[in-house]
Amino acid sequence: MPSILDRLPTSARMPALFVGHGSPMNVVLDNDFTRSLARWGQVLPRPQAIMVVSAHWLTEGTWVTCMAQPETIHDFYGFPEALYAIRYPCPGAPQHARAATEVVRRAKVACSDDWGLDHASWAILKHIYPRADIPVFELSLDYGRPAEYHYALAAELAPLRERGVLIIGSGNLVHNLRLADFRNVDAPPSDWALAFDQQAVRLMDAHDHDALVHYERLGREAALAIPTNDHYLPLLYVLALREQGEPLRYAYEGFQHASISMRCVQIG
Ligand code: ZN
Repeated sequence: MPSILDRLPTSARMPALFVGHGSPMNVVLDNDFTRSLARWGQVLPRPQAIMVVSAHWLTEGTWVTCMAQPETIHDFYGFPEALYAIRYPCPGAPQHARAATEVVRRAKVACSDDWGLDHASWAILKHIYPRADIPVFELSLDYGRPAEYHYALAAELAPLRERGVLIIGSGNLVHNLRLADFRNVDAPPSDWALAFDQQAVRLMDAHDHDALVHYERLGREAALAIPTNDHYLPLLYVLALREQGEPLRYAYEGFQHASISMRCVQIG
């Protein structure tokens, strides 16, 4: 009996992306960051399906959305009414999601029917793929687990790339809401935020994933940049998928609200 993965059409290996999503307000803003997402969508190969590893779906165990029509979830409070009216009516990708449950061996990944697409998916996909005509599913973060567990699990998702799945980690490399200047989206980055962002670039360029997985050893700037690791872990999912010799480039770099790095990364 062929596996679910084997029944999916093969494709040239898809890139993998890390997208810094920042505030949900970006979905309605026209700025450097959102324009760069739109340009990115125009040059990326067209995937069969998109899997978003979401900073906003924190669970016990690892789950994927397997429904045919995922709901747009408005998982934030106190934002303008216009944001709650936004829908991203893409289809789901049940077969690709089931293939994800199959390729991961070190953990049980199971289908969930009680989630949909949170703003880590739709707030960026509205800009990258505005037509909402590519099937999307999400992967949750088993939030009780250490970073090395996530990195190892992520590496097992690699076969999906050869089946036309664009894997997107959606979070932020530097994400400290307590120290954010919410009155000013263009506030210059804090020194520590800039320092950690640059340090992470040096480590990514050097392929030093061990240092990035064990970020808590990187000192004060890392501690300020990653007060909780929900927005950082999606980056590790993407780095874990980088094959030997595969190019890595920064599709966007910049900060919002002084303490949120909007840096975006493309592998492949
Ligand atoms: Zn977020």
